[in-house]
Amino acid sequence: MADFPQPDITDTNRPFWEGLDAGRLLFQQCDQGHRWLPARDFCPDCLSSTFEFVPASGLARVLSWVVYRTAFNDAFKDRLPYNVALVELEEGPRMMTNVLCAPDALAADLPVELVIQKEDTCSVARFQPAGRKAEA
Ligand SMILES: [Zn+2]
Repeated sequence: MADFPQPDITDTNRPFWEGLDAGRLLFQQCDQGHRWLPARDFCPDCLSSTFEFVPASGLARVLSWVVYRTAFNDAFKDRLPYNVALVELEEGPRMMTNVLCAPDALAADLPVELVIQKEDTCSVARFQPAGRKAEA
């Protein structure tokens, strides 16, 4: 099986990836209270460079998704069909992720909860329908 694509870890996003390795999903919040993902060096709303990384509750809802039935990277060949979804954390930031469920189980506003999974050397934030038992 091909290697899972690894993230480019920079000084900017290192806290995000280290947070996942420690079992927490972190988003950024500026001194004016704006919150965002993915990691950047300044607030996308007010351009403040004074911010902190804050742990998310792990609860979110599905906004939109696509289902892939063709693997454009060999690493995903054995996972077909899989989805790529946009979810909104209950704290507000939105992120691209995968929802661990069958394609027909996806729905707009579906409540989902965080599942951190290891892919080679990095941990990734995925979600599953809320209230379901954790998948391995
Ligand atoms: Zn701000």
